[in-house]
Amino acid sequence: LTSEEFRQKGKEIIDFIADYYDNLNQVQPLSQVKPNFLYDLLPKEAPEEPESFDQVMADFNSKIMPGITHWQSGNFYGYYPANSTYPGILGEMLSAMATGVGFSWINMPSLTELETITLDWVGKLLGLEQGFLSFKPDGTAGEGGGVIQGTASEAIIVAMLAARNKKVQEYIEEHPNHTEEDLVLFKSKLVAYGSDQTHSSGEKASIVIECNFRGVKTDGSKRLTKESLSKAIEEDKAKGLIPFFVVATFGTTATAAIDDFPGIAEVAEKEELWYHVDGAYAAAALVCPEFRPLIDGYQTADSFNFNPHKWLLTNFDVSALYVKKSSYITSALTIHRDYYRNKATSSGLVRDYKDWQIPLGRRFRALKLWMVLRTFGARGLRNHIRRTVGYAKWLESQLKADGRFKVVCPVDFSLLIVQINKQTIADKLGATDIDSEHVHSVFVKANAALHARILEQNTVFITTCDLDGVTSIHIAIGAPLSDEDTM
Ligand code: PLP
Repeated sequence: LTSEEFRQKGKEIIDFIADYYDNLNQVQPLSQVKPNFLYDLLPKEAPEEPESFDQVMADFNSKIMPGITHWQSGNFYGYYPANSTYPGILGEMLSAMATGVGFSWINMPSLTELETITLDWVGKLLGLEQGFLSFKPDGTAGEGGGVIQGTASEAIIVAMLAARNKKVQEYIEEHPNHTEEDLVLFKSKLVAYGSDQTHSSGEKASIVIECNFRGVKTDGSKRLTKESLSKAIEEDKAKGLIPFFVVATFGTTATAAIDDFPGIAEVAEKEELWYHVDGAYAAAALVCPEFRPLIDGYQTADSFNFNPHKWLLTNFDVSALYVKKSSYITSALTIHRDYYRNKATSSGLVRDYKDWQIPLGRRFRALKLWMVLRTFGARGLRNHIRRTVGYAKWLESQLKADGRFKVVCPVDFSLLIVQINKQTIADKLGATDIDSEHVHSVFVKANAALHARILEQNTVFITTCDLDGVTSIHIAIGAPLSDEDTM
């Protein structure tokens, strides 16, 4: 494309995108294509000769679009939201303009500095502890700070690596005469803790860093508690294992449960664990002060992570990771090579984010976040959270009034977990014993069938979670296009 053609096609694509969003709530949210649909539609080789952009767009429309699942539809309530907004999209475009691999300050200073600044802005909007911010109130650099990771999964790997490195360094200092075998044995005994509700990324991180992971059994409210964590740690220590890391979740994936933060904080301090907070979805709500008491006890955490790309109006991928002591991360991840050497790095005055993450290269992701923060303002972000939580509360009251359904978990945020009311099933069966095996088995089948029917109708897209063997309807509200009409 020449720059003239780019101007023209770019404008057409902007129109295409705006039309798409304008009409999105009228489209069925779930793609109906069958596996391998695209393999049959596309040529088996890349074209030898250049093709016209119009031809490519025609194929995009006729062949690719049918396989798009409309996450941005106001009728999409699956998983957790993955917000897209026009400022986010425009930020992505400008980031593409400035494409580079901004791993060091020197090779794209604005990429690094805007990231540091916007993450401090976001941290302040969330009311985070000062220790998580890069700049102290007097403008000097602190020991902590934020970094944008691609996903919460990468964030927890980075946190776990930092935690392991810290523990290993302590071991080395305490055992100056250790052998290589001692060190291998020590590492093999390390245990990271989460709960049986912790997102799979916790366990995956432990696979990556080759430590043990223990998903501690949660209580009746699906929370990791102080008591169960302490008991698990005692058992493991008795076996000679070495606890080093705990993840506490603010808003679990299945039910948006909130772990026992004050209790976990106590255990983390006593057992000298790295304390990581996973608030991937729910921590966006902290932009509204009324949600902050729910996370009390997080203050002593070593690292804190949430995804503005979920529920904070910023296009994927922006996962904000904050740490109190960034040197734990950089000492775990910095590798010196001649080709990285430059004056700015040597001056010690700049941050090279390559040392805060696993890959080397990094995109200019702060740009879209900055554009979202500027154009929505804190007020716009709060409105989005309060509006969508309001829909969740409204839906909860409608379901309660209807009587045929039960909202089975607290609606602290914008997630509802719904089951058919068991009493409705018992009444239908004419059964007097609601706890009978027969009633239960019909109840389990009916809930699964309800979800299958919702999927088949495809007017809304909703996923499920397994709650003690019952397929439960998981309604995650939060798409910017959800409104009074879609609710
Ligand atoms: N943590 C929680 C609580 C989540 O709900 C999710 C995903 O929904 C994740 C972590 C993983 O998020 P990511 O896709 O950013 O790795």
